[in-house]
Amino acid sequence: MKERLEALRSEALDKLQTVADAAALNDLRVHYLGKKGQLTEILRGMGSLSAEERPIIGQVGNEVRAAIEAVIAEKQAGFEQAETARRLQAETIDVTLPGKKSAVGAVHPLNKIVEEIEDIFIGMGYTVAEGPEVETDFFNFEALNLPKNHPARDMQDSFYITDEILLRTQTSPVQIRTMKAMNGQTPVKVICPGKVYRRDDDDATHSFMFHQIEGLVIGPNIRMSDLKGTLLQFVREMYGSQMQIRLRPSFFPFTEPSAEVDVTCAQCGGSGCRMCKHTGWIEILGCGMVHPKVLEYGGYDPKEVTGFAFGMGVERIALLKYGIDDIRHFYANDTKFLSQFAKI
Ligand SMILES: [Zn+2]
Repeated sequence: MKERLEALRSEALDKLQTVADAAALNDLRVHYLGKKGQLTEILRGMGSLSAEERPIIGQVGNEVRAAIEAVIAEKQAGFEQAETARRLQAETIDVTLPGKKSAVGAVHPLNKIVEEIEDIFIGMGYTVAEGPEVETDFFNFEALNLPKNHPARDMQDSFYITDEILLRTQTSPVQIRTMKAMNGQTPVKVICPGKVYRRDDDDATHSFMFHQIEGLVIGPNIRMSDLKGTLLQFVREMYGSQMQIRLRPSFFPFTEPSAEVDVTCAQCGGSGCRMCKHTGWIEILGCGMVHPKVLEYGGYDPKEVTGFAFGMGVERIALLKYGIDDIRHFYANDTKFLSQFAKI
C-alpha cells in the first residue's frame, strides 16, 4: 500500500508540473484528492491493515495529500498572479493620452440665413410672424385669390390631408392670418419665415420641403417704389452695397401688378458668366402689390389702403450667398458640409 501511495504522489506531482490553466488544475485536484479521488480510493483499503501498519500508512497518506496540496496551492497562486497581471495590462489607463474632444454643434446654414434675413428686416421696423404648417385650403389658396379650379393651383402641387386641409405650399397664408389678427389696423409690417411643402421631385434645385420668407406691408399710400426701395436695401445688406436689382413683370394670383426680382450676379459682378447664363442677373424672389381681393379677404378696404408683398426661397438665397450648387446638401446632415458654416 505504501508503494501505491508513493507511486500516486510521483504521478500527481509529474502531472501538476505541466498543468496549463486553473480549470485543468482543478480537474487534477478532484482526480487525486476529491471524495471519489485516487487517494481516497487507496486509503479505503486501510481497514484490512494490522494495528501496527495503520498509523504508518495513515501518516504516509497524509504526507502524500500534503505534498500534492502544496503543489496545487503554488500553481493556483501562479495562475491568479498571471490573471491579475493580464487584467492590469488590459485595463491600464494612460493618463498622458490626449482626451477625446466632443464635437460642438453649430447653427444650420439655413437657420443662419433666416436669422440674417430677419435681422435685416427687423432693422427696417418689421416684426416676425409665424403660422401653422398644416393649413386650410381657405388660407393657403382661397383667401389668396386662388379659388378652387383656378389654373394657377397647378403651379403648386400640394400634399392634401383632406379635401380642405393640406401642408401649406407657401408662407403666404401667414399674410392672411396676420391681416385678420390686425383687425383692419395699419401699418402691417411683417416677415413670415417657415417650411413649405410641394409634390416636387427632389433635384439640385427642388425639394418636397423647403423654406420661404414672405414679407407683407400694408398702409395708406404704400407704392411700388416703396417695394423696390425695400428690396434694394435688403439685397445690399445681404450681398453687398454694390448690388443692383431689376424688376421684371410677372404674374401671381395674389399680387397685381407682380414682378420677379433679379439681383446682380455675385459671381461675375454683372459682366456675364455661366452661373447667370451670361445675363449678369440672377433671379432671387417674387413680389408685387397686394391684390385688392386679398386685402378684402384680410379685412381691409382696398380703397383706403394698399400694400406690397414679396416671397423668397431661403435655400436659393443661401445657394447664392455661399456658392453652393445643390440644395440637397442642406438636408443630408453631413457634418463635413455643415461644419464649414460653423465659423462664418
Ligand atoms: Zn454671372
